[in-house]
Amino acid sequence: MRMAADDPPAVVLGGGIAGLAAARLLARHYPRVVVLERDVRTDCGDPESAFGTWQRPGVPQFRHSHAFLARLRLVLLAHLPELLDRLRALGVRELGLAEIAPPGITLAHEDGDEEVVLLACRRATFEWALRECVRMRPGIELREGVSVAGLSASRRDGRRPTVDGVRLADGAVLPAALVVDATGRRSRGPEWLRAIGAAPARELCADTGMFYYTRFYRLHRGRAPRGTTGLVAGDLGWVKVAIFPGDRASFSISVGAPVDDPSLHGLSDPARFEAFLRAFPAVAPWRARAVSTPIDGPATPVLVMGQLRNRLRRFVDRDGPVATGFFTIGDAAYHSNPVYGRGSTFALVQAALLDEALGRYPRDLTAAARFLDRESERELRPFWEAAVAGDRRTLGARGGPKVTDPRAWLLGLAEGAFGWFFDRGMLPASRVDAAIFRALMRIFNMLEPPERLFTDAGLLVRALPVLARVLRGDGPPPLFPVVTREWALSRLARAAGE
Ligand SMILES: Cc1cc2nc3c(=O)[nH]c(=O)nc-3n(C[C@H](O)[C@H](O)[C@H](O)COP(=O)(O)OP(=O)(O)OC[C@H]3O[C@@H](n4cnc5c(N)ncnc54)[C@H](O)[C@@H]3O)c2cc1C
Repeated sequence: MRMAADDPPAVVLGGGIAGLAAARLLARHYPRVVVLERDVRTDCGDPESAFGTWQRPGVPQFRHSHAFLARLRLVLLAHLPELLDRLRALGVRELGLAEIAPPGITLAHEDGDEEVVLLACRRATFEWALRECVRMRPGIELREGVSVAGLSASRRDGRRPTVDGVRLADGAVLPAALVVDATGRRSRGPEWLRAIGAAPARELCADTGMFYYTRFYRLHRGRAPRGTTGLVAGDLGWVKVAIFPGDRASFSISVGAPVDDPSLHGLSDPARFEAFLRAFPAVAPWRARAVSTPIDGPATPVLVMGQLRNRLRRFVDRDGPVATGFFTIGDAAYHSNPVYGRGSTFALVQAALLDEALGRYPRDLTAAARFLDRESERELRPFWEAAVAGDRRTLGARGGPKVTDPRAWLLGLAEGAFGWFFDRGMLPASRVDAAIFRALMRIFNMLEPPERLFTDAGLLVRALPVLARVLRGDGPPPLFPVVTREWALSRLARAAGE
């Protein structure tokens, strides 16, 4: 779609991960792209300064742990190779299967293994590098400190509205050839659409029931403690704990705690957080004095984030887009419980789908919107559903809300049965069986859909002998040794001198 330089620009609302990536890809279709971002990020020379100085009230998770999955890396290779090059130049490590395999597994290389590579990177580093790619790009204008307040639209013959501009908080209207909402999980897109008379977006929402705590550290010698594998993560039912390797010898530890467990509410106090971590044998070695130190010294905060939901919004129905020329991507469209580490991958996949949609339908924004909606549902919806099901299982096990609808009850029963098999068969088998480990890693990294767990008979059969061992009581030992809630709380109480 070649347009004249004085035509209105494509306008992207929000300059986070989804917005910046979309802007970079929109520049292939529009001679001018404008990104409107409310937060002001100073141009600093390196990501370390961004981590230290950028204020991101618009992205409260900016200094929380971020996993960058293999699927995201494949999107970068295909659509934004210069970003991957930049990250590599910054020292971001690429963790392949061999680096993350548990000690009990010997991997002979198989075709496709080269795809299963995570990026060990802080979110600040990723966002800094992406912003640099966009900032340097002719044709893209990054306006920061600009708050979007609504949309402007025209409507012909009683048809659905066509978005033709953006209303700014100072009252100005910026004309737009197309508008992409990438304003994140707190997007006001549905409200803005309502104000121009659009049909309502379809929305699904499920609470995660979790708080998320994070603290960042630096390894003294740049090396993980002896005897640990690349990934350390434990879901103990009453709590989830994970270590995220970062760039430049950084790493972070995140704790996901249920909102209805008041004993775990005070973990934002660094002393309590550290005492809590010492209860976990898989985590404590990372926090030994000789191994690591909080990234900004003792004052390094433990950040906490609540009100975490799984939310999905669709802006296309049977009659087409609720407003022509309006696209929604990233967290504003799909976001799920952060413990699954999928949000940035969702954002990049959708930015790439938008690119493809505009390439296929250069003169038809309605067809492009349908394509984005259909393909997002195909690519992302199964992972979103899996996150909701995972949360439902955790909440159910903790005595969550009573289920009165018989269909929901049956679904819960089926999920419970599969969950039982997964926890006692599949998961322990992934510690000793290379094929199951590889399959779980491909699913975790969004390279294959989660339903493979139900449909791959070969995998199910392979897990059976391990299930038998687990039921006999001699299953493969967990990589993340089990710690009871009572034990961890007793460590907390002892540290507090109670
Ligand atoms: C605690 C936590 C942990 C997470 N961990 C992971 C992880 O491990 N891996 C992973 O992939 N993802 C993770 N995520 C999700 C990830 O952060 C997002 O999915 C990712 O940032 C993509 O989001 P986005 O670009 O759509 O939105 P955001 O990154 O939130 O960006 C939205 C942007 O829009 C701007 N904005 C908002 N409103 C306006 C307005 N009115 N006008 C102008 N600008 C506006 C904001 O300032 C912001 O810059 C986590 C999320 C949380 C909450």
